[in-house]
Amino acid sequence: MSPLALGSPDRPLRVAVIGAGPSGFYAASALLGADATVEVDLLDRLPVPFGLVRGGVAPDHQKIKSVVRAYQKTASHPRFRFFGNVRVGERVPLELLRQHYDMLCFAVGCESARTLDVPGEDLPGSGTATDFVAWYNGHPDARELDFPLHEVGSVVVVGVGNVAVDVARILTRDPESLHPTDIADHALERLRESAVRDVWLLGRRGPAQAAFTPAELQELSQLDGVDLVVPPWSAELDPASAAWLEAEGDKVTRRNVELLRELSQREPTGAPRRIHLWLGRSPVAIEGDGRVEAVQVAHNALVEEGGRIAARPTGEVDRVEAQMVLAAVGYCGVALPGLPFDRRRGIVPNVEGRVVDEAGRVVPDTYVVGWAKRGPSGVIGTNRADAVETVDRMLADAAGHHAPADPDRTAAAAEQALARAVPQLVRWQDWERIDAEERARGEADGRVRRKFTRVRDMLEVVRRS
Ligand code: NAP
Repeated sequence: MSPLALGSPDRPLRVAVIGAGPSGFYAASALLGADATVEVDLLDRLPVPFGLVRGGVAPDHQKIKSVVRAYQKTASHPRFRFFGNVRVGERVPLELLRQHYDMLCFAVGCESARTLDVPGEDLPGSGTATDFVAWYNGHPDARELDFPLHEVGSVVVVGVGNVAVDVARILTRDPESLHPTDIADHALERLRESAVRDVWLLGRRGPAQAAFTPAELQELSQLDGVDLVVPPWSAELDPASAAWLEAEGDKVTRRNVELLRELSQREPTGAPRRIHLWLGRSPVAIEGDGRVEAVQVAHNALVEEGGRIAARPTGEVDRVEAQMVLAAVGYCGVALPGLPFDRRRGIVPNVEGRVVDEAGRVVPDTYVVGWAKRGPSGVIGTNRADAVETVDRMLADAAGHHAPADPDRTAAAAEQALARAVPQLVRWQDWERIDAEERARGEADGRVRRKFTRVRDMLEVVRRS
């Protein structure tokens, strides 16, 4: 039989996208919108889709979560299928996928956290914001963690990105305002009994280097029952940053600097909870006898080094009493068996989305999108253009190719192989049942949804239906 044009109705281009978060959905959408005929199977290790939209976006940011409507539209495409509960690299090795798909596109994000590397970091009470976020969002990976907030009066959060801001907000806002959201039951319970009164946000550099965005900072400054305390020294610019801002500063940085100046002039209102935003400060040690009791915080001077503003300790150190420390210093990728991994950058090495090996050689038919491709940066929408870039490369690589009609490279053969490898494969309709049940449980309680937080409970819903 003569080979058929790859990407034609007679021989569709078969792609497995691994990871059903935003970048996976954007890749699927771009593939399905192409002129070629592409069949997309979107695989996820969880029985539920949406990645960080479900497990990362803060529960008091429900509007951001409405982005899933676009993903639901993608899921309704006749050439789209979802297979959840599929651990690629473990139960489902890459070789098995390569047998049934022409191309693999990894959208696996950054699943671990960077750490501080300071003495005392391993003490009980010290953890990562990534874990805390996963915990309050009911991610099954964090189900067995506990944050006994009734024993905590003060928390130090290290880092001043939007994750640090999310965490500070969730720790200080009135827990009753979280009741209508989809926050995990176990987290709401802990927040209701929380003794947290003070949260320190530590940024190692200055106002012009803070990674949060103005809207998020503003939100933090407007929380009921919370004083955002910005000491005047926190809002001060070092001379090099001031010169840079004047000459070429971007809009976001200018607004951050302006807001910080305004906030530093505010008088605290005597609100019951406080967030202390300290810039130019780094934790150098976590102290405690068997658990976190205090953090040594070094003062930094900012110096220009190789065109970058770097923090250097001045030798002055404060001691902040705290019972919990959360490092919010960025997410980091995790190596997947059989896939190249750049340990230093924590990403899958690639050139414009084409995966490359250590020697820089392109790994055939293997692509990457999203945080796994470029690192943990940008907002959800950033992943759309990023996915389009990779998909353009995929389509260019497929163009002009012919392939024999291969009984292994069919939708039915792939589904059979996955079903053989995974005891309980979860399909899109199964997820819709989980979704409906979570919403119904929530509705009964005046909430958006009550999430299932254990894989076995999610699978039980599917089994029952
Ligand atoms: P991020 O924006 O990269 O911020 C990381 C922070 O950690 C920075 O302040 C960084 O300071 C600091 N840091 C790194 N290493 C450090 C160290 N060893 N000691 C002290 N500080 C250190 O990362 P993120 O907050 O995890 O957010 C990830 C992405 O998700 C971002 O693009 C963020 O905007 C996005 N996000 C958006 C929202 C939202 O839109 N509402 C919510 C959450 C997350 P330096 O600059 O000095 O390295």
